[in-house]
Amino acid sequence: MKTFCFANSQIIESEKAKIHPMDIGLIRGYGIFDFFRTSNYSPVFLNDYLDRFIRSAEKTFLALDFGKEELSQVIHELIEKNDLKNGGIRMFLSGGVSENHFSPTKGSFFIFCEDLDFPSKDKYEKGVKLLALEHIRSIADIKTTNYAFPVWHSKIWKKEGAEDVIYHMNGQVSESSRSNIFIVKDGKISTPANHILHGITRKRLLELAPQTQIRNITLKEALNADEVFMTSTTKKVLPVTQIDELKIGNGHPGPITKKLLEEFTELEQKISV
Ligand code: PLP
Repeated sequence: MKTFCFANSQIIESEKAKIHPMDIGLIRGYGIFDFFRTSNYSPVFLNDYLDRFIRSAEKTFLALDFGKEELSQVIHELIEKNDLKNGGIRMFLSGGVSENHFSPTKGSFFIFCEDLDFPSKDKYEKGVKLLALEHIRSIADIKTTNYAFPVWHSKIWKKEGAEDVIYHMNGQVSESSRSNIFIVKDGKISTPANHILHGITRKRLLELAPQTQIRNITLKEALNADEVFMTSTTKKVLPVTQIDELKIGNGHPGPITKKLLEEFTELEQKISV
């Protein structure tokens, strides 16, 4: 089936979309993106994702020719044209083609529709393993396209039977490669305050559990937690039951993680009827 995207200010067939090979998005990895889902044809938490994308453009000094209203209109048109009942939508703005092959200029802007896979039922029931990895993302609060380090490392974490990594630096946890991290100890929920992307799923979880402490969390605390879970657009609320070779809590998804996944799923269903 033909799919359609938004490229060069118009809706065209996705396979006809083009970008210049010398765009610094490609040769320097300088660009921004954002990604959200549709549920029953409704773009989930669209407002939040558009705000974050516009903020990313401002922070990276990239000009975005479209405002929130226009983006929203195009997105609704694409959902209809692609019959995107339950899928993913990716907005991407590149750094542009630059004379010195370094400084940002006017970039190319695209919106693509994609099929989407969630983690298996088994992963939600049993939880997943993360590898502890000493790393910190640069300009972590901006959703840049630079994921070279985790893309490279994914070969290693897959070989170790892990779902992903948990980044730590100087003993402090920040996040996973594409998710935020929460821990639960003695019924108290906490999530790292610094060196993170401000996830839209994290934001919703903080609304569902407003007593959550936003603070610095050590790796030691994460390893000794009763429950650990990760949140993201594509994972929702996914239990983490192992970090490296250590079981978290009793090695099974905990009650608070399960309750928050349920509440998050209900919230999403409510807004997409
Ligand atoms: N942290 C990083 C580095 C990410 O790339 C992502 C999502 O891609 C997240 C956290 C989770 O954010 P969200 O809940 O908006 O998907």
